[in-house]
Amino acid sequence: MSEKILVVAETKDGELRNVSFEAIAAARKINAGGEIVGVICAAEDANDLAQELIYYGADRVVTVQHDNLKSYTSEGFGQAILKVVDEESPDGIIMGHTSIGKDLSPKLASKLNTGLVSDAVDVELVGDQVVFTRPIYSGKAFEKKIITSGISFVTIRPNNISTLERDETRTGDVASIDVDVKDLRTVIKEVVRKTSEGVDLSEAKVVIAGGRGVKSADGFKPLYELAEVLGGAVGASRGACDADYCDYSLQIGQTGKVVTPDLYIAVGISGAIQHLAGMSNSKVIVAINKDADSNIFNVADYGIVGDLFEVIPMLIEEFKKVAV
Ligand code: FAD
Repeated sequence: MSEKILVVAETKDGELRNVSFEAIAAARKINAGGEIVGVICAAEDANDLAQELIYYGADRVVTVQHDNLKSYTSEGFGQAILKVVDEESPDGIIMGHTSIGKDLSPKLASKLNTGLVSDAVDVELVGDQVVFTRPIYSGKAFEKKIITSGISFVTIRPNNISTLERDETRTGDVASIDVDVKDLRTVIKEVVRKTSEGVDLSEAKVVIAGGRGVKSADGFKPLYELAEVLGGAVGASRGACDADYCDYSLQIGQTGKVVTPDLYIAVGISGAIQHLAGMSNSKVIVAINKDADSNIFNVADYGIVGDLFEVIPMLIEEFKKVAV
């Protein structure tokens, strides 16, 4: 295949999200000899970010800079990206299956009158056909999909496709396209962050998730401490969110976030099917639960049967000894 693929990069707090680099790697997998064009929408100058995309494998980058792109809105980003698509006429578009990707991709696909494969965990070239793999039935099975006409448009699940090695010797053009982003029916006045600063849950390599067994908001404190020692993020079951131990933005599962970290530690979580839907594809699952018959042990690679209030402090102490 020797075509042109647009990778829509995403930023958070002025930095590129890792899934943007994973999207470039996905593009390279299916388009080894073709061109990969990164796209960045921003209110500020994005030349440094564009350079970073090139270091991670983009051949060139198009930026759209406009005051109305300060915060994400589907209308604003939609106008910008549609203009880039119009100018570049790509054969494929790849973006992260993040909150933004989930919101924007169906709208763009419908405007572009093309198919969309969402939440792919792998992409490959079989003959000259691009084949996407995505989980179905809450992660119990995988389906392989192709797009039969139009642009190959896909969103990829964070943490599933390894990024290419960062290479500072790579060079590429960075050009900006003028788009008059206007007539927005939604204007973001203020962003109120409910989760703490630190590692983004959906991209974290380590997730410590607490359930109703944690018993209180205070009970989550040792989980935050463990997350800090391991450089991870804290998540939660809906049971813990419903009980007001933490914010719903931490919820993992069918109606929450889907995560695929290298290490998932489920603490005081029973393992309801709706929770498993959000974490069962994690690479290594450790469960801590005082009930040896708890369903979470059926998906765990390692299980600790015990009281979490005794086990977590021991883990913190031990991991502190080996943490670099
Ligand atoms: P519980 O099931 O109450 O489990 C608590 C666990 O803690 C128990 O296993 C207990 O043995 C253990 N425990 C208690 N004390 C200790 C201790 N001291 N030390 C160690 N272990 C201890 N749930 C989600 O998580 N995410 C979703 O997205 C989601 N979506 C849903 C959508 C729908 C439509 C529905 C109907 C439900 C959904 N749920 C979801 C809810 C789900 O069915 C469960 O109710 C929920 O996951 C249970 O949370 P839990 O495991 O924390 O609580």
